[in-house]
Amino acid sequence: MLENLKKEVVKIAQEADRSGLCKHRSGNFSIRDEKTGYVVVTPSGVDREELTFHDICVVDLEASVIEIETNVRPTSELLMHLQVYKTREDVLAVSHTHSRFATAFAVLKKEIPAIVYECANLSLKDGVIPVASYGRPGTKELSESVIEPIKRSDVILLEGHGVLAVDKDAKESLLKAHYVEELAEVYYRTLVINGGKEPKAFSVEELGKWQYPSEIKLNK
Ligand SMILES: [Zn+2]
Repeated sequence: MLENLKKEVVKIAQEADRSGLCKHRSGNFSIRDEKTGYVVVTPSGVDREELTFHDICVVDLEASVIEIETNVRPTSELLMHLQVYKTREDVLAVSHTHSRFATAFAVLKKEIPAIVYECANLSLKDGVIPVASYGRPGTKELSESVIEPIKRSDVILLEGHGVLAVDKDAKESLLKAHYVEELAEVYYRTLVINGGKEPKAFSVEELGKWQYPSEIKLNK
């Protein structure tokens, strides 16, 4: 069942690995099927290059397995994915990575401010990428810690752990995970150049003003 969604999850997971966003089996990815409400999710402990759509697990929002074709188990971080879907009805895809620069800020429990205008695409209600308080990976405690921050932003850091990025579309959720990593690297470099002093950041109001230039005359 849900073969097309399973194939999409495999594509996203392998793309994340190839681009260096997550390595060594870390990170996990899921998509929610709008019709059935089921979630397709990557398994734990399978090398990405060997991953096929047969290894993708189908579960319901209460973490009951609906279908698994091969001898695998859903990612141990499943509860966190499911909590996001329960919290945000608009979300249909979740990408979770341990990308390095972003995780460095997650270790320090340090929010990343909107220092480049690209942040306008991340739905940052408070003008920062928030950090969910620590919860041991795989636990209910971790899944509950994401509830408040994920209401405030499409991308969040997980204290001492990594990154969560969400969207209606799987490819876009991965793109947002890339943006977070890029932003974290720029923030890190800016702090270094600036002698550790905080750089200027955009306000929520300024971020909300972006629009396509009216001077471009679209031939419609
Ligand atoms: Zn993780």
